[in-house]
Amino acid sequence: MSEPYAKTPPAPKDFTLDKALQHTVSTDGHYHCGKLDFQNRADYLSFETAQRAIGGKPEQLAILHAVETTGKIPRQEATAPAPAGTTVEGMLDLKGQKADAQGFYHLGNMQVKQTEYERFADLQREACKDPEGLAQLYHMQNSSGKPLTYRVHHGEDRNDRYEPGSNTIHVDDTTAVRDAFNGTTVPVVTAAMHEQGHMLGREGISTLQGIPAGNYENMEEQRVIEGPEARDMALRHHPARHSHYGSVVNVHGLDSRKPALTVEENGREKIESAPLKLTGTVGESKDGWTKFNVPADGKTPAHEIKLKTEELSLAMGGTQAQAKPVLADAHKHNDTATVELTADGRMLYQNTAQQTRLHAHPVPGVEYPAAMTAVRDTARVPAAAGMDR
Ligand SMILES: [Zn+2]
Repeated sequence: MSEPYAKTPPAPKDFTLDKALQHTVSTDGHYHCGKLDFQNRADYLSFETAQRAIGGKPEQLAILHAVETTGKIPRQEATAPAPAGTTVEGMLDLKGQKADAQGFYHLGNMQVKQTEYERFADLQREACKDPEGLAQLYHMQNSSGKPLTYRVHHGEDRNDRYEPGSNTIHVDDTTAVRDAFNGTTVPVVTAAMHEQGHMLGREGISTLQGIPAGNYENMEEQRVIEGPEARDMALRHHPARHSHYGSVVNVHGLDSRKPALTVEENGREKIESAPLKLTGTVGESKDGWTKFNVPADGKTPAHEIKLKTEELSLAMGGTQAQAKPVLADAHKHNDTATVELTADGRMLYQNTAQQTRLHAHPVPGVEYPAAMTAVRDTARVPAAAGMDR
């Protein structure tokens, strides 16, 4: 058994729940319990209701006393480090064990589903790049009481959470969280460290959850967001969240903060960064557009395409050109004709005036780079199946 955080000192004997709930009201309508500051009567009443429901337990009074006398949230300091010589691989070593009848592997006082073990191990390896992640894993394994169940979902349960009753952490390795106020995104690995922070501070969780804290919702969220989460964000050079409000975004990668693109978006992005090699001759330039003459081949007569001049750089004596494809949008351009590349590698001539698409097949004279062939192949994956790749 090990203590992840320094114990909050016990409250003085005369510090009862009634004393903890004594308050004054200032002229601005704020309610104050010592240094605790509630913005309005409703916030104070929800605090009172929550604390009365817990019922004046000694550990609750210790936390309330600490918060009311210092104005600070206890246990925000770094998790106590793991003993020297502790390694992530040592902690993940199954030592040849077989899954139990319920399909769980046991790692100290933790249990992980056999079917999720690889995902769990990858997640912990990433978290343990931060010494606090290593400390958290050590303290989770060496915790006491009911075993911790650690679930790692893969797109099927996107609601990361810690459930104190069942002592279960749920993390989804395809989702990150974007702050509604400052827009920063918390990657999968840091979101996991957030939930791990709730678990390791579970002794005081209901007391702190019962104290409203503005954008952080409650002091337990503030403790974790400003604690292990913010420290890991800083280590990874990301701005910290300043609220507990936001949205879930799909990502590829445990430390990724970039929203994952759909298959089509992904294909478009690859196309945009893949230069096309066009065969033909460059013609007249006008109004920011350059004509490009494509010679006849066995199937198609000679024809002309228009490319945005700024996207076109000449190469090889004027008979070939490197063109960054123009991803035209019929609603953004008023040109009579634009060239559009689709996610499946087809080039479209789009006549925006007539709202018609003149060609929808691979264009003669265009040599598709290897990157685009790959795009064409991946784009055949149905969007629904490929959404969360
Ligand atoms: Zn939380």
